[in-house]
Amino acid sequence: MDQVFSNFLNWTRQHEWGYPEQFQKRLDNGTQLTVWDSGVLVVEPDHAGDKDIILSCAVHGNETAPIEICSDIIQDIISGEQTVAHRVLFLIANPASINIEQRFVEENMNRLFSGAHSQGSKQNKERERAKEIEGYCERFYASAPKGERRRYHYDLHTAIRDSKREKFAVHPFTDGKPYHREQLQFLLACGVDTILLNQQPTTTFSYFSYNTFGAQAFTVELGKVKKFGENNRADFQAAEDTLRRLVGEQVLSFPEFEPEQHFMFAEAQTINRQHEEFELNFADDVANFTAFDKGDLLAIDGGENIYAQHDGEHIIFPNAQVALGQRALLTVIRVPTESLELV
Ligand SMILES: [Zn+2]
Repeated sequence: MDQVFSNFLNWTRQHEWGYPEQFQKRLDNGTQLTVWDSGVLVVEPDHAGDKDIILSCAVHGNETAPIEICSDIIQDIISGEQTVAHRVLFLIANPASINIEQRFVEENMNRLFSGAHSQGSKQNKERERAKEIEGYCERFYASAPKGERRRYHYDLHTAIRDSKREKFAVHPFTDGKPYHREQLQFLLACGVDTILLNQQPTTTFSYFSYNTFGAQAFTVELGKVKKFGENNRADFQAAEDTLRRLVGEQVLSFPEFEPEQHFMFAEAQTINRQHEEFELNFADDVANFTAFDKGDLLAIDGGENIYAQHDGEHIIFPNAQVALGQRALLTVIRVPTESLELV
């Protein structure tokens, strides 16, 4: 058991696809630690505040900066250096993919939520793990103290390519529900000034938490993929500091809300690869959030030309190598923050 708590990440990496036993430890300051599985740690302070917070990393195993940040916060909680004001569930989602330094082992885990893990005939360990993780989220929110609770989930990532807007977050499809000013302020404090508003349900982890549990949930892209030890942690300092405040402070305060500080983008086109013959009409190293004009050729899918439909249509997450039927490119257009319904 000592090994579990002396370095939770290392222990997790030694048990890639789970661990059958649970562990508990009570810290001197009264905080209760419970390990539900490898990579799954529940932290409950003595007098928990009203937030139930999920912090997840390694849904993509090669995105190491968020893993380093979560691991450091976890170890500081265990040593008593990091105060804890609220219940927190830490999830190191896909340890096997960390160990092979790849985005995933067999299947992109961030397309396996909201039950997608059980659709079709395909079976693999990532599907099993995604299903288990859904269960842990459910259990975490359901086991909260009675009373009015506030639910949060930040799923932390780094992107494969350079980005003209280095840090950005994806807001799950709201189906008409308003956006939360405080969440934009929180993300800005993390250094994230750019928000991409999804316009339809997805099988991502953050949409699952938003839609299933009513959590304020985001996929947060904090920078670029690098190997362990190669991340410049100063680039992530604002995010780490703000996450530590989220965990450690009863009430977070932010500078006044200024709409013009937030750059909001709405989904314009989702281009799913339909044919084996698929190509993107721009170089491999074109950065995320590069803008195209109406009529510019974006991709050719089995002989069909796909064009930008708007001036100032920005590309995100281009990946011509995705499996058939999956998203090869997303395009977005700027929307004024003032035009959104904010509460
Ligand atoms: Zn990712």
